Amino acid sequence: MALVSHTVAPDAFGPAVALSCRECGARTPLAPDFACVECFGPLEVAYELPAGDPEGLRKQIENGPLNIWRYAPLLPVSPDVAERPSLNPGLTKLVKADNLARELGVTGSLYVKDDSGNPTHSFKDRVVAIAVEAARTFGFTTLSCSSTGNLAGAVTAAAARTGLRACVFIPHDLEAGKVVMAAVYGGDVVGIDGNYDDVNRFCSELIGDPAGEGWGFVNVNLRPYYGEGSKTLAYEICEQLGWRIPDQLVIPIASGSQLTKIDKGLKELIALGLVEDKPYKIFGAQAEGCSPVSAAFKAGHDVVRPQKPDTIAKSLAIGNPADGIYVLDIARRTGGAVEDVNDEQVVDAIRLLARTEGIFAETAGGVTVGVLRKLIENGVLDPAAETVVLNTGDGLKTLEAVADAARPTAVIRPTLDSFREAGLA
Ligand SMILES: *Cc1c(COP(=O)(O)O)cnc(C)c1O
Ligand SMILES: [Zn+2]
Repeated sequence: MALVSHTVAPDAFGPAVALSCRECGARTPLAPDFACVECFGPLEVAYELPAGDPEGLRKQIENGPLNIWRYAPLLPVSPDVAERPSLNPGLTKLVKADNLARELGVTGSLYVKDDSGNPTHSFKDRVVAIAVEAARTFGFTTLSCSSTGNLAGAVTAAAARTGLRACVFIPHDLEAGKVVMAAVYGGDVVGIDGNYDDVNRFCSELIGDPAGEGWGFVNVNLRPYYGEGSKTLAYEICEQLGWRIPDQLVIPIASGSQLTKIDKGLKELIALGLVEDKPYKIFGAQAEGCSPVSAAFKAGHDVVRPQKPDTIAKSLAIGNPADGIYVLDIARRTGGAVEDVNDEQVVDAIRLLARTEGIFAETAGGVTVGVLRKLIENGVLDPAAETVVLNTGDGLKTLEAVADAARPTAVIRPTLDSFREAGLA
């Protein structure tokens, strides 16, 4: 492993105290490790969170920076994190979606958490911001990742802002918008002739090789820290609802990290007394052309059988999702479900959200809104309850998905006659 000798300041990770194994619970010191030495299970960050004064903590958060660093007391970052260079993601809009609710027959409150408003236009800025802090603390000089598209851009942009070198790896056949986004910030963008699972396997090899010495792979050797960034989605949604947990959440699944960490964030808010303890249901959303978790959920399996992805929802195209089994557990434990929609339904859902709420989602947002619609039609999701659906990326990055369906109404000469002839008067 790319180990770096570095003295770590005692409060470098704030309230985080160790890494703990999600399988056997064994603890190890905070380090750039991701697998348990006892059982090879995935490691996650363990905390001693500031319990005992929920009112004071709520006030501290509300008076904090207008980005994810307002939640620094609940993240593996040092207390002065907000003073360092960062893209400062977060505090994206929670949009009350009354028009969409009417179309879908939702009678309860429906909200879209619109994470396209982040600095590089996807939720990935949240996870990268935490990983960058860990990279800096461990003394890594190159920031890297295996990406389905959005992560690459979030990493190269964050590296530019923080003065690190970036070298990121993507499948060679991504959407033009994702490739340009990744490349424009400088650093090296490497297209690999293969799918995401091939890219990920390559990165795992690179970590063990001298060529990867001093490299922080945000979603591999820094994965425990990276994952914690998704907790901020849970914190924000609850704070924006007036410190309340919604009844139902619809969340996209690629590796499943985001979904599992949103659940972790909700549980922390309850444990800290920042919100009232109440039941909530978590629904996972996948594209039919890459639906290993949905297939396992429907079959009643505890294991996830890998698939070869074939879908326009490329940002979710992970055929062998690392956190798939934990997603199954959460969906079942909370009384939720995992569902999938086909590419045509994804495109329809993108257009539905755009024309009802003025929000242009990328294909992953088409997946969540499409799955929301399907779950309502199938009677699985309660239309009378309060629901939050996530849009995790910007439609401008996946233009090809809707380019054929969203075209000019007419092209005319600049005359009134021509306008009338086109039937638009
Ligand atoms: C990466 C990504 C996700 C979720 O990824 P996980 O690996 O499940 O955490 C969701 N939406 C978009 C747009 C993404 O880029
Ligand atoms: Zn273990």
